[in-house]
Amino acid sequence: MTVATDILAEGKTKTLRPTSQPDELRVAFKDAATAFNGKKYQEMPGKGALNARISALLFELLAAQGIPTCFVRAGSEPTELIYKRLTMIPLEVVVRNFAYGSIVKRFGFDEGMPFNKPLVEFFHKTSDDPQITEDLILELNLVPTAATLEAIKRLTLQINEIFVAFFEARGIRCGDFKLEFGLDPDGTLLLGDELSPDNFRLRDAQSGAVLDKDVFRLDLADLVETYQGLLARMEQPAPVSVSVPSAKLKTYQAEVWVHSRKSILNPESKAILEGIHTLGYGNVQALGAGKRFTLKVAAASLVEAEQTLNQLAQTVLSNPVIEDYELKFKN
Ligand code: 5GP
Repeated sequence: MTVATDILAEGKTKTLRPTSQPDELRVAFKDAATAFNGKKYQEMPGKGALNARISALLFELLAAQGIPTCFVRAGSEPTELIYKRLTMIPLEVVVRNFAYGSIVKRFGFDEGMPFNKPLVEFFHKTSDDPQITEDLILELNLVPTAATLEAIKRLTLQINEIFVAFFEARGIRCGDFKLEFGLDPDGTLLLGDELSPDNFRLRDAQSGAVLDKDVFRLDLADLVETYQGLLARMEQPAPVSVSVPSAKLKTYQAEVWVHSRKSILNPESKAILEGIHTLGYGNVQALGAGKRFTLKVAAASLVEAEQTLNQLAQTVLSNPVIEDYELKFKN
């Protein structure tokens, strides 16, 4: 039996313990459901193992698509997973495809209404998890750099595409979900936390039946039976038609900005700045000239589009010895 002093951290639904590896954690999912910031609580035998299994399945799905995650392997108990240890970023990142939950209350959308494109919202992980803007996230230094925040958004949208396709192939609408990210000791951004139906809104695409924690929040059905049914559907292989990527090519619009490294003197920038000074604009103190490429790429996923564009930017659009580039998606 594990003694209580082993516990590194304990939340409402998970307990974190060390393993023999200093860079790993043993995460135990509890047989308990909570809602409304802990005001509603119920013990539920079997829930911990279901949440561990569903999370593992979704982490493996993401890893297979090249998404960096904290998941290492399943643990020795059915309720346990082994994670890489991360320094967690205190943000809840919510992505919404359809209007459910707090966004309906906050902005008056019709329940179940589809959004034109996935909406990403940030909430600060404090006692009441207030919504927070990107400017405030940077002002409060909740992430190391603005690029980290961009990477969080990019990963969130990539993960959303993967989950939407995965659930759609099984007749399930992925309404929304919540993610949390962390940094490993090298500063690499990884997906952390859990991927259980506690963090999702999932609906049967035909009947609209609720397949997530809303069954507990709203007293609609037995949560453990609902999660068992969901897991059975998730473990089914996808029909062949949806697993062929070329059947689902999308167009992604992007910009690649190329500029010389800060440490490298760019003769073009120097010449333009000197010209500007000659014209009387002596107050212009610095100038960096660069190139902007606009591109449209047909790809099966945002992950694939990003891989293609990174390769192109590194090998064709920029000179990696003297130049850096930034990749920005426009849709
Ligand atoms: P909402 O903002 O509508 O309450 O939640 C949006 C999505 O994020 C839902 O899928 C919900 O389950 C998830 N979510 C938001 N906050 C939390 C939280 O504190 N805990 C959990 N488990 N999920 C959350």
